[in-house]
Amino acid sequence: MLVAGFREVVWLSPEGEVEALSAAEARARLEREAPLVCHRRAVARRLDTAGFAALDLLELFAFVRPARFCVPTPRGLAAALGLAPPATMAEAAVALATAARALLQELPADASLDARALAEAADRGGWLWAPAVLAALPPAEPGAVRRAAGLRVWQHLAEWQERAPPPPAGNAPVSGEEARRRLAALLGEGAEARPQQADYADGVAAAFAPRQRPDAPQAVLAEAGTGVGKTLGYVAPASLWAEKNQGTVWISTYTRNLQTQIAQELDRLYPDPVQKRRRVVIRKGRENFLCLLNYEDAARAAATRATPSVAPLVLIARWIAATASGDLVGGDFPGWLGELIGRGRVGSLADRRGECIHSACPHFRRCFVEKNVRAARHARLVVANHALVMAQAALGGLDDATVPTRYVFDEGHHLLEAADAAFSVRLSGQEGRELRRWLLGAEAGRSRARGLQRRIGDLVGADEDAGPALIEALVAARILPADGWHQRIADGRGATSFENFLALVRRQVLARAAGGDQGYGIEAEARPPIDGLVDAAARLAAGLDRLAEALRRLATLLRRPLEDAENPPEPAMRLRLDAAVRGLERRADQQLAGWSAVLRDLGREPRSETVEWLALDRIDGADSDVAVNRSWVDPGIPFAEVVAKPAHGIVVTSATLTDGEPEPELAWAAAEAATGLRHLSERPRAARILSPFDYRAQTRVFIITDIPRDDPGQSAAGFAALMTAARGGALGLFTAIARLKAVHQRIAAPLEAQGLLLLAQHVDAMATATLVDIFRAEENSCLLGTDAVRDGIDVPGRSLRLIVFDRVPWPRPDILHRARRPVFGGAPYDDRVTRLRLRQAYGRLVRRADDKGIFAILDRALPTRLLSAFPEGVPVRRLPLVAAVAETARFLGNPA
Ligand code: SF4
Repeated sequence: MLVAGFREVVWLSPEGEVEALSAAEARARLEREAPLVCHRRAVARRLDTAGFAALDLLELFAFVRPARFCVPTPRGLAAALGLAPPATMAEAAVALATAARALLQELPADASLDARALAEAADRGGWLWAPAVLAALPPAEPGAVRRAAGLRVWQHLAEWQERAPPPPAGNAPVSGEEARRRLAALLGEGAEARPQQADYADGVAAAFAPRQRPDAPQAVLAEAGTGVGKTLGYVAPASLWAEKNQGTVWISTYTRNLQTQIAQELDRLYPDPVQKRRRVVIRKGRENFLCLLNYEDAARAAATRATPSVAPLVLIARWIAATASGDLVGGDFPGWLGELIGRGRVGSLADRRGECIHSACPHFRRCFVEKNVRAARHARLVVANHALVMAQAALGGLDDATVPTRYVFDEGHHLLEAADAAFSVRLSGQEGRELRRWLLGAEAGRSRARGLQRRIGDLVGADEDAGPALIEALVAARILPADGWHQRIADGRGATSFENFLALVRRQVLARAAGGDQGYGIEAEARPPIDGLVDAAARLAAGLDRLAEALRRLATLLRRPLEDAENPPEPAMRLRLDAAVRGLERRADQQLAGWSAVLRDLGREPRSETVEWLALDRIDGADSDVAVNRSWVDPGIPFAEVVAKPAHGIVVTSATLTDGEPEPELAWAAAEAATGLRHLSERPRAARILSPFDYRAQTRVFIITDIPRDDPGQSAAGFAALMTAARGGALGLFTAIARLKAVHQRIAAPLEAQGLLLLAQHVDAMATATLVDIFRAEENSCLLGTDAVRDGIDVPGRSLRLIVFDRVPWPRPDILHRARRPVFGGAPYDDRVTRLRLRQAYGRLVRRADDKGIFAILDRALPTRLLSAFPEGVPVRRLPLVAAVAETARFLGNPA
């Protein structure tokens, strides 16, 4: 058994002997022995080794309890299995052995032949757990295992049934009073009276009134402070409207994890799980779901070779048989399983590139994506995310023609960010490579990518015009970047006009980039272009136009049978043809046309409503992509046109829509600008419900006055001292990855010496969501992160009692920000963005009435004018570190 920290490594022998090793000693021993560990990749990162053979408890957990979750730590495993929580590293090592025994003891209850068939397959692939699993499983009759589905797990999945499309929703309104009554019913008799929540439900009900004019939705902008209970507050009128009108309300939030949280709250509305499954659907993009055809391809390839690649597929087969939704991201697929198997490998099992062959697929009627799309059509509440809603609107419907009419946008402060991503254009090496793969499929190597020929070859086979059109499209696609493009353009010797253009873009960025690489890459203005760039852009645009034209011609030919009144195609064939036509037209009319327009505009005067820039993206200092970007200066314009105006009712809500601006008119005008609602013809109704929490008593804000900004050693000392004073439960937030890493390196071992686990985004071999899960579960842990952690974390209770910012979180001074500043109010815009960031982070401290928290910033340059980010009356003090440490310990009840 092996448990690794940053300063201590514990090895427990099978005889029970505990040894404390150095990392070097542990690495040497791993060459001879395969220990029991929890999260092999994370342990390898801590030991600074590439990898090693081990029995990973999490793999056993995934086999024994598929589609179930545990926090991926020894304590998390112990909690999931009902075992005593380990308090020390030695106890953690013992806990691993106990957990292994407990899991293996569950196996005799699994009488299915499939479990044995899968374990035998994994055994042939050399899975280290296989002998123990086979010994624990019930014995099988000789020859019986051959009848099991094993890796052909799809055989057991239920098929979806087609239903008539629902009629259009009615227009019956929901009054504020009705919303209050529905909320009271949801909360149940005897529930604590929460007048703020009832006021909120009443306020947002206005968005469910019938529309009075086309293009003028009933819009409500509603700010609800933390603790108001806004989810049930908007669910009350939304569910009532959906029932009265036999319609569907789309609730959209920012992240996939928040989707899961909202869906969990809907248990109150539908306590019966069967009814809830019918009425509530978590809707995600198709790239989130496992594609059974991709899985089958991988399983067939692995089954022919008894290699280690079988074991991951065995674990995925167990999950497929148990999953409720087939959702690989944020559903019941544990995030840590993706980390163990490899995110690339898991990603290749989803339909990431739009290679679906729809009704030609043998799994079509069992397909998880199809089930999700169909279920959403008949649901009362669809819980979606902003990215999906925007993409659906931008592309005119993704997987079906559904256009929602009633929306609730939760986490509304992220709305424009999602709109920006959906309505921007990005022409890059990676995007070009992806499109080439979609068109030409795998050209070399072991990729299983299906190109156009493989997907629709049979559809064009019978048509004497379509065959040549397909070939023409495939020839035109050779302009796109091929494998190895990266190296070629770095050497300045591109193989196609696309690659030649990218080489010039790269040169311009390197020549002009101002400001250092903050860990994300470097960028330069698109104008004036370097010599040769405009000509290269024009050549590339002409090539892309030829490709787009070829795709359009092919789409037109495939459309012919769809419009043939005399010999209409079978329904399944119609579906396929329709999907093929839509896929081709989307690439031609949106992706390629967008690229071509950007390229041609490089030689023209800039437009006022958009901004273009060139970028060289980098990961850990290495180039990862070269791109030309175009964004809307105000993404609220396309959002309002394409999403908001066609809707009948829209609620945009968040805990932080306003930034503490005391003048209500100014505050709401800024909120309307920041959510895109200022572009509606009628102003939205505004509602603000204050938090019921006593922030003055529950929180303190400290600005540390004696830490120099550019001294990582002193910054690290500040983080460590404050985190120790809080005894963990601390979140450290950084505005640059390099500073995060520098601080992490200095404080990991000292914190561990205090018994405090330190987790870090960009350092640990775990996804952000996994790190947050561990942080939430381990009450005395600390987490370091950047923007994604700041925006995506929701940790109620004692697990979050201290937030430390390294610097004032000003907006990144990039080209896009410079273009946006004048449109959103000039210099005050910087302050507003920063105040909102501080406010959002601060709001994470208190999620319940009995939470207490400290908000500290190690940057004495925080201007006083930004302090209105914090609620009125909250004590804000500027003080030296030593005083802040003492105050933190005292306030949180941790005397020295
Ligand atoms: S229908 Fe498409 S997404 Fe579904 S399993 Fe088949 S190929 Fe994959």
